[in-house]
Amino acid sequence: MSNFRFAALKQTFDRPVLEIEYPSNKVSDYFGSMTFNTSVMREYLTEEAFEMVQNSIKKGGRIDRKVADQIASAIKAWAIGKGATHYTHWFHPLTGATAEKHDAFMEPLGNGKAIEEFQGSSLIQQEPDASSFPSGGIRSTFEARGYTAWDPTSPAFIINNTLCIPTIFVSYTGESLDYKTPLLRSINALDPVAVEICRYFNRDVNKVFPTLGWEQEYFLVDLALYNARPDMVLTGKTVFGHSSAKDQQLSDHYFGTIHDRVMVFMQDLEIEAHKLGIPLKTRHNEVAPSQFECAPVYEEVNIAVDHNQLLMHLMERVSRRHNFKVLLHEKPYAGINGSGKHNNWSLSTDTGINLLSPGKTPKDNLRFITFLVNILKAVHENEELIRASIASEGNDLRLGANEAPPAIISVFIGDQITKTLDAIEQTPLKEVLKNSNNFDSRINIPKIPEILLDNTDRNRTSPFAFTGNKFEFRAVGSSANTAKPMFVLNTIMADQLTKFTTEVNKLTSGGMKRDDAIIDVLKRYIKESKPIRFEGNSYSPEWVEEAAKRKLSNHRSTPEALQAFISKKTINLFNSHKVMNETELHARYEIKMEKYVKKVQIESRVLGDLALNHILPTAIQYQNRLIKNAQGLKEVLDSKSFVKLSRGQLNSIKEISDHISAIKEGIAQMTEARKKANTIEDISKRAFAYKDTVLPYFEQIRKHVDKLEVLVDDEIWPLPKYRELLFMR
Ligand code: ADP
Ligand code: MG
Repeated sequence: MSNFRFAALKQTFDRPVLEIEYPSNKVSDYFGSMTFNTSVMREYLTEEAFEMVQNSIKKGGRIDRKVADQIASAIKAWAIGKGATHYTHWFHPLTGATAEKHDAFMEPLGNGKAIEEFQGSSLIQQEPDASSFPSGGIRSTFEARGYTAWDPTSPAFIINNTLCIPTIFVSYTGESLDYKTPLLRSINALDPVAVEICRYFNRDVNKVFPTLGWEQEYFLVDLALYNARPDMVLTGKTVFGHSSAKDQQLSDHYFGTIHDRVMVFMQDLEIEAHKLGIPLKTRHNEVAPSQFECAPVYEEVNIAVDHNQLLMHLMERVSRRHNFKVLLHEKPYAGINGSGKHNNWSLSTDTGINLLSPGKTPKDNLRFITFLVNILKAVHENEELIRASIASEGNDLRLGANEAPPAIISVFIGDQITKTLDAIEQTPLKEVLKNSNNFDSRINIPKIPEILLDNTDRNRTSPFAFTGNKFEFRAVGSSANTAKPMFVLNTIMADQLTKFTTEVNKLTSGGMKRDDAIIDVLKRYIKESKPIRFEGNSYSPEWVEEAAKRKLSNHRSTPEALQAFISKKTINLFNSHKVMNETELHARYEIKMEKYVKKVQIESRVLGDLALNHILPTAIQYQNRLIKNAQGLKEVLDSKSFVKLSRGQLNSIKEISDHISAIKEGIAQMTEARKKANTIEDISKRAFAYKDTVLPYFEQIRKHVDKLEVLVDDEIWPLPKYRELLFMR
């Protein structure tokens, strides 16, 4: 009998631990060696070209055609020296993955020979025939083509002998078709107004930029076992599987010793990441068995997002070399922790100030409080949009489950800051600002102790926690492109800060001193944004009730959450900061809804197929054995003993039949529900139909399959079991 499960298990028994070779004893010797970074630029570019690229990176200046040719030829020389044969524009289409189309440097000369060529025009702009990428109707309504354009702020890199040039992807009418474009626009929207506010406190600030440090959670599973699970191959998760007798109850995996095979994988991944300039710093075991996390040092947000996309790609590739499959799905296994991607977000200035770091002087503290309170206000005003920014079918399974932040957005700021804000709110304006000409001695706000940095965070249940010098947005899904939550945060912050300066300016033009005006507005913001602050256990059922009283949204599913993306408020918000227009927002909404439908549809089909082709035949086979056994007993026993002794078998036969019937009925009804949903033209309504009428069958069918798993002889069960998938040998 062929049983893929045992064949796969056998392979896992004698997996060798691979040897890896470090390129050098010191990481600094090869860090960034495969990137066209500033120091390489200085070496390869003329003074004029170097200045022009730097200007373009720092100020968004144009690069003229002649210089573009120079840069292209320098990049070509560098890339060929590193073994590159091809180049590609590398972009983030709305599929959520990254895209590349490779062209060779080689150009035939017509005389049987060839040369290597790479023009400035190929560097700056390309027109990939990318008509199959989701565009939410933008390109069909406007213009059929889209083009990619170089983003000089993110360094080009070489991977697999291919030079990758980070680009944006837009339609010819200027609508963004990717994640990077709105991200870059949001960075630009935030900068000037944040600078204006910084200058209330520090005259020398010229630029403010968001920073991101992500923490990436993931699972590893043996490649052979993965391949023996068609559900994992097709959906990235298990649709069935009885829980393992032991999984994470003992908390013995979290921060535990890293398994040899995994360690070598991590080292290999780090080498590859470091060569590409991804500053990976931390690695450890996570809570669930075979769950891990890695995190880099934070970077400017556009680069951090590119690096996260690149890392996810590297993980896929490197894991295969080690006979692992990396699982980036938010909930690959039921009943144990899922995976997230914590987004640590802050704002920095060109003068080296972290705007979310409490300062040493009262003036610095007021600057800190100003930005912090504006964030509270922005999050409160836009909690639904923030929820929408992390919505995905995978994340729906995680948010609100007992190990992940809930679908309710709230902010944790800790005791110290709470006390400070309370004091500002409750102290009369005249007392907050003493009558003195020295700014620092005027401000009478409680000192924020520096130990804050060490004792922060420790409310792990909050979806949006202040952790000493940054906010940690924990509700982001592990497979997400982090550009989306990031451009939402940047944009709501740009909007909030704009409102803030407007209000401050209004007061000062009415004759109020600026410091008084700042405090006056902050006092009101502190009061108004209070409902978003929650210091308690966000996983508790009491919080769900309390949040409802506070009128905070609690959207448990993607179709519900996504509505906030196309509300009037959101359209105005993105429009007024030139991050996205209405067409772009609607396009994205449609793409997300469609993706939701497709994901649920695929999972539903996989679940049906597996149950019918794998589970039921196995159950029937085992049941036949029981029937034969009962028949045999009947032959050898007298009828009284038979009744007494065959009870167990007969009960099992009946139980199996009950499960088989329930599964068959469930699948028939689910298929019917799918058919009906498919006839719905409107994509929103179809998504809701999938959520309300198809999705509920998953749990219901699974319950019976998982029961069969423990009834049926282990020898013939076809799918690797949780205990086998989750624990490494
Ligand atoms: P943990 O949350 O595991 O305790 P840390 O709080 O030390 O770890 O850091 C988590 C992440 O936060 C890291 O990726 C780190 O680079 C990032 N981080 C630290 N400071 C900032 C900042 N100013 N802006 C953005 N990310 C930051
Ligand atoms: Mg953290």
